[in-house]
Amino acid sequence: MATQKGHIGITTENIFPVIKKFLYSDHEIFLREIVANAVDATQKLRTLASKGEFKGDTTDVKVSVSIDKEAGTLTISDQGIGMTAEEIDRYINQIAFSGATDFLEKYKDDAATIIGHFGLGFYSSFMVSSRVDIVTKSYREDAEAVKWSCDGTPEFTLEPVEKAERGTDIVLHIDEENKEFLEEGRIQTLLNKYCRFLPIPVAFGKKKEWKDGQQVDTAEDNVINDTHPLWTKTPSTLTDEDYRNFYRDLYPMQDEPLFWIHLNVEYPFNLTGVLYFPKIKNNIEIHRNKIQLYCNQVFVTDSVENIVPDFLTLLHGVIDSPDIPLNVSRSYLQSDRNVKKISQYITKKVADRLSSLFKSDRAQFEEKWDDLKLFIHYGILSEPDFYDKAKNFALLKDIDGKAYTYEEYREAIKENQTDKDDQLVCLYTNDREAQFSYIEAAKAKGYNVLLLDGQLDAPLVSQLEQKWEKTRFVRVDGDTPERLIPKKDESVNEADKAANENLTSVFNAGLPQVEKAQFHVETSAMGAASAPVLITQSEYMRRMKETARLQPGMSFYGEMPDMYSLVLNTDHPLVKQVGEGVVSATGEKLAPIDAELRGLQARRTALEAAQKDLKPEDVTPEEKAELEQVNNDIAAQYNQRNEALAGYARENQVVSQLIDLALLQNGLLRGEALNAFVKRSVDLIR
Ligand code: ADP
Ligand code: MG
Repeated sequence: MATQKGHIGITTENIFPVIKKFLYSDHEIFLREIVANAVDATQKLRTLASKGEFKGDTTDVKVSVSIDKEAGTLTISDQGIGMTAEEIDRYINQIAFSGATDFLEKYKDDAATIIGHFGLGFYSSFMVSSRVDIVTKSYREDAEAVKWSCDGTPEFTLEPVEKAERGTDIVLHIDEENKEFLEEGRIQTLLNKYCRFLPIPVAFGKKKEWKDGQQVDTAEDNVINDTHPLWTKTPSTLTDEDYRNFYRDLYPMQDEPLFWIHLNVEYPFNLTGVLYFPKIKNNIEIHRNKIQLYCNQVFVTDSVENIVPDFLTLLHGVIDSPDIPLNVSRSYLQSDRNVKKISQYITKKVADRLSSLFKSDRAQFEEKWDDLKLFIHYGILSEPDFYDKAKNFALLKDIDGKAYTYEEYREAIKENQTDKDDQLVCLYTNDREAQFSYIEAAKAKGYNVLLLDGQLDAPLVSQLEQKWEKTRFVRVDGDTPERLIPKKDESVNEADKAANENLTSVFNAGLPQVEKAQFHVETSAMGAASAPVLITQSEYMRRMKETARLQPGMSFYGEMPDMYSLVLNTDHPLVKQVGEGVVSATGEKLAPIDAELRGLQARRTALEAAQKDLKPEDVTPEEKAELEQVNNDIAAQYNQRNEALAGYARENQVVSQLIDLALLQNGLLRGEALNAFVKRSVDLIR
């Protein structure tokens, strides 16, 4: 054969600048592509041998990677099927025509072992090379060795060459900007990343040893890969220790996994892998350790978003599938049918595994629950399919640590925690220390209190309210113990109402200023044994604020003050005492004001009734002025009234003390108010 010159059969005049630029960020993948091709060629030879079409020995075949710093080359050699001149022309020169397609057509049944999936493949070597040589000799008898050479323009040369052994050497003449790929350390790192589990041994130089204070090569190949990684093995042949060891290999710094799932499916898509449930200690770890995606044991990526559902990205481990399209854009992936099926399959497997774990060993499942719950709640919140399965094993834990399934919990509290409107009320705390007294009060009423202090528990609560019928969740401090689960309507008689209004005004006047908080004072008959003053925060308002905080553009909501209710227990002796004190201390002052008010209010009612049916223009200016005057007089009387009550509040240490104690109990007493409280308390006990 004479030396040939030719033009590479591509449509674009010069594809190399495009390759270089387009793939700039991912330069390093060239090594994966070239080594994967070498592995492919070796696998193909093995396939031929198994069919009797190749008679030679294929037991010790390997791929070698070597650096020649002086020559400035990186060489990847294999002992695979090699190529004839004609095959080079077909598979390399006409790049659109990938050899893998041809081969697959012919050996369909064994196709899964062949990697050729990456599209750009061989030509990615030009991202880092000024010239690439292929020196190759086909496995066919009497094949002539050939050398193909190309300097990154569409022109190439093809000439006969001397080569003793069957197989292919790809020689990359590394260009000026990419000298890093001539560094041993860099190549070692890349081989570890991409080639660690390739099915054919990959040797990178020789194993080294220390001799006379120096590192020297031994005779043994430095094989960088494990050709039979755990996920390719039959689960029944593996022990727990095997799974743990593999996990440690993948994530050396991580705690032991909780448990794992071995994935293995051939139809309707091909997928193997092992997924681990990690012990997650903090958020940083979630982002550092990820599921690794492989394609026939070639590492592809560790960003598996769009391939597995979001919540599964919290898992660790390996997924290996030749059926995930790798050379298409990420957004396309989501709509790919195979990817959808794969994602559903994995979700189902994970749910099944959790379910069987729950059924076979509930005690162990409960023990691991705290580590599992973030993950399971994420799944429940993001995947409707997952909720349908998880609802049977997801747990709720109460403050005593007792765990219930959803079903069990509803059953357990039904009797005592159904309100007058037939709604089930689930009580919870998200901070058992801060809400201690509220928890105690709820317990005293025989209620069960859930501990929901997980990162995702707030949205979970909303989700459960949507999924369950006639159920609401209320934090223990969401209302007074009586009103948390209202069993009947509260009734107050008129006389009490007036007395309560006076009480409310007195306490209102006694409230100190609290930063970022607003209080609404109200009364409730909570029983003599309950606290005299209680601060509650409406579940609805609190959730509004919490949700708003998480929503971009809604932050003004978060800036708003927190709204609390200051509830006076009208059954408590101290509150009663204040109530009686109000009457005796202000009764004389209030009597004439109230008499005056009654007269004014009657006058206003009469005026309003007279004007009600008239058109605005038919009301005389005098009549208008009179109504205005009456309204002003009423307001003035009320001011006097409040002033009288405020005067009482100022004089009354019990009022201030009761308010401050309630604030203190909720961590709301700070600064000047706290100082005043301490001083007053000291005075009181002196
Ligand atoms: P793909 O691997 O997707 O087929 P590549 O561009 O990586 O695409 O390779 C093109 C073709 O060149 C391969 O299909 C194969 O036929 C041939 N080839 C590349 N490298 C080798 C090799 N080391 N030995 C034998 N054939 C090879
Ligand atoms: Mg390839």
